[in-house]
Amino acid sequence: MEEIQKRDIRKLSLSELEEFFLSQGEKKFRAKQVYEWLWNKSLKNFDDMSNISLSTREMLKTHFSINHIHVDLMQHSTDGTIKNAVKLYDEKIVESVLIPTSKRITACVSSQVGCSLDCNFCATARLKRMRNLNPDEIYDQVVAIKEEADTYFQRPLTNIVFMGMGEPLLNYNNVIEAIDKITSPDGLGMAARRITLSTVGIPKMIKKMADDEVKFNLAISLHSAINETRSRLMPINDKSPLEELGESLKYWYQKTKRKVTYEYVIWDGVNDDERHALALAKFCKLIPSKVNIIQYNPIDEGEFRQASQEAVDMYVRVLESQGIIAKVRKSRGQDIDAACGQLANKNEVGELTK
Ligand code: SAH
Repeated sequence: MEEIQKRDIRKLSLSELEEFFLSQGEKKFRAKQVYEWLWNKSLKNFDDMSNISLSTREMLKTHFSINHIHVDLMQHSTDGTIKNAVKLYDEKIVESVLIPTSKRITACVSSQVGCSLDCNFCATARLKRMRNLNPDEIYDQVVAIKEEADTYFQRPLTNIVFMGMGEPLLNYNNVIEAIDKITSPDGLGMAARRITLSTVGIPKMIKKMADDEVKFNLAISLHSAINETRSRLMPINDKSPLEELGESLKYWYQKTKRKVTYEYVIWDGVNDDERHALALAKFCKLIPSKVNIIQYNPIDEGEFRQASQEAVDMYVRVLESQGIIAKVRKSRGQDIDAACGQLANKNEVGELTK
């Protein structure tokens, strides 16, 4: 007898699974039970589905596989941050990070294997983009971190940020599908306002998100509000300069009434002067917004260097004097290369993806 080609059961929607159950002469409600095991409870094998009969489990096993991600390596930082090297079904590796603070536990997840955007201060850019992550691969990263939050901190996961590897707006459909599952009661039931998508800022996609009436938060990696400087840092700015980005953000605000966050690194000799701070303040006035000044995490021998404390203070002064909220964020997990922009599969399992 020819062996049946096994499909990944989590590629099926609930109604497809119900149809399958009916076609096998099984009860429809059993499909819903299996679906709950797969998503809500994140089971990794059929044998653990305790309310499903042995014969139904065997039947499922002959038709389907469950392609769950696998945490291949877990590294613990001295500050509590945990970095997972996650192996995918095709042996590719992405990284995700658990960031604990006194009030929150945040999961920082990847949306692509590598990245195509060439921001020249970011380690992930050096990997180039290999492929988009599937919705379940994004979802599973969150599940893995939720489990680690429970094991290592006995606390629930509170927030999710799409600030790992890759550009989420270049893998839009899969990211949205993952977020739908994460927020659905069938999935993890998390509130959309606890999720933040971070992007280099692709105007067309920002408008699309606004049209789609998404409920999560938007963060833009700005780093400079002067085109010449921004283009040097982020080549995407040549294609979509600040004027166009600003237009799309106005559209976003009109439609969603949601504030945006600008992520901003201040580098020595690059954007650490008052001219840049004033340009940022002006850009911030386009729509209600706030600024997260993030510390630079060095990725090589020093083409870029973190600006002085005086420069950071100057920015805060300029922004606050114009009524703009600015927070200075400390970097986390630097000792295990888990901080923003450092995700580049630098450990031994990561060698596989190079
Ligand atoms: N592609 C998305 C998400 C990934 S990067 C984006 O660009 O927003 C997540 C954040 O880390 C971005 O704000 C990015 O600009 C920042 N970042 C990248 N490299 C960094 C580095 N070496 N030090 C500090 N922040 C960095």
